[in-house]
Amino acid sequence: MIRADLHVHSCLSPCAQITMVPSVISHVSKEKQLDFLSITDHNCCDNLASFDKKMKNSMIAGVELTSFEEVHILAYFYSISDALNLCSFVKRFLPKINYDPELMGYQIVVDEQDEFQKLEEDFLGIALQLSLSDLIEVVCSHGGIPVYAHIERRFGVLYQLGVFPKDERVRLAEARSKEGWVEAIKSGFVVLSNSDAHSPDEIGCRFTRFAMQYPDSKELVDILAAPSREKVFSLWD
Ligand SMILES: [Zn+2]
Ligand SMILES: [Zn+2]
Repeated sequence: MIRADLHVHSCLSPCAQITMVPSVISHVSKEKQLDFLSITDHNCCDNLASFDKKMKNSMIAGVELTSFEEVHILAYFYSISDALNLCSFVKRFLPKINYDPELMGYQIVVDEQDEFQKLEEDFLGIALQLSLSDLIEVVCSHGGIPVYAHIERRFGVLYQLGVFPKDERVRLAEARSKEGWVEAIKSGFVVLSNSDAHSPDEIGCRFTRFAMQYPDSKELVDILAAPSREKVFSLWD
């Protein structure tokens, strides 16, 4: 079994601590004995390449997207370039609002040595002008694997909409609790349990186990692409 926390925010997310830089996240990930991590910033992938350089083969490319209905979905990719293509496509659907980093949080692009590169100028913590269904289509057409994020919490699909929309393109749901897990399993989902860490101490507080002999990032994404309860074990499976 390998252990993965597939929902971690870097210093690019306005709501995350500015200490969420490559050296810190990589160190904590090793300390918590995680084989894989996914960096999933809000509506932007600009830190993925730096984290990948630092974490070598223990990172899965990911992003957390907000639909027009204010539903959060995660997307995972085989390659950083697929993730970057998706992010440059969705950028045009990000509404332009007045953004004050002091008040709303810094959005910092770093290199693999944690060195400051730039501040992202468009506020990322906001809903894209794309419906949930259209957003899922955009993820799939860019080679991504869509996942309903923290389903039973604010901005989760169950919390926002009350039900899972009928959509065969989504086979994975992320739960935060046993209650969420029960709802997801009843509806036929394979369940992930991740931290949604915004600070170093939260990394690995939840993780998912995958039935794999050796850590192999391509095999992990293969499992996510065709998930089954024989291979994916949340904290409650
Ligand atoms: Zn979220
Ligand atoms: Zn998140």
